[in-house]
Amino acid sequence: MATKSYEIQLDSHIVPYSVRISNRAKFMRLVISRDRGLEIVTPKKISPSKAKRLLKDHSVWILGKIKIIYEIAEYNQFRPIVEGNRILFLGKKWSLRCDESLNPKGIFFENKAIYLNFTSLNQLDNPQAIIRNLLTGWYKNQAKEIIHHRVEYYSEKIGVQFNKITIKNQKTRWGSCSSLKNLNFNWRLIMAPPEVLDYIIIHELAHLKELNHSPEFWELVQSVCPNYRHHESWLKNYSQLLTF
Ligand SMILES: [Zn+2]
Repeated sequence: MATKSYEIQLDSHIVPYSVRISNRAKFMRLVISRDRGLEIVTPKKISPSKAKRLLKDHSVWILGKIKIIYEIAEYNQFRPIVEGNRILFLGKKWSLRCDESLNPKGIFFENKAIYLNFTSLNQLDNPQAIIRNLLTGWYKNQAKEIIHHRVEYYSEKIGVQFNKITIKNQKTRWGSCSSLKNLNFNWRLIMAPPEVLDYIIIHELAHLKELNHSPEFWELVQSVCPNYRHHESWLKNYSQLLTF
């Protein structure tokens, strides 16, 4: 295995990249990761002009991926749950604030901030764990309320009846439904932009009419949610933001 580093101009960006010759690679491919950046992985040596052409041909894909990595890294800087840092709610970044005089005691949000009733988070022994628990409970309640409301709205629009809604704590699944017309949703969706949350709701409600991912199913989804592909790829690209 051998790696060499170069750079290339794509649009107005200078993008560093490396060429890695790998015995295990069967064909030439592009890989982008946070740790290693942009790489051409290839089974055998390639000429600089071939490398450049490959990168230019895929510039839209490359710049799109780099933008996502940059946005996630930028948000991660503010991720630790300490006062002043940001936290996502319905796709917007709210800053975390403390105020001992809060009445009633609890959590509330106002003016782009989520307030908690402490003088300072930094005075607590294990502020991250305490705040994470408090916020999780608050987010789950918000998810329950908002998701119920949206499910009612879209079930009427699609013309389906549902039985029960359960808000779940899942690592990877966003929503599911059962033959008994029960719907399950992941509370973390409440951190995503509202249109992404709506898409998952529409997706599960559409399954009450069309059980499989058949062309008829996607047609139904698209009739209610024309940009559903965009929302799907948002979830795929940014799902790691939906945690705290
Ligand atoms: Zn599905």
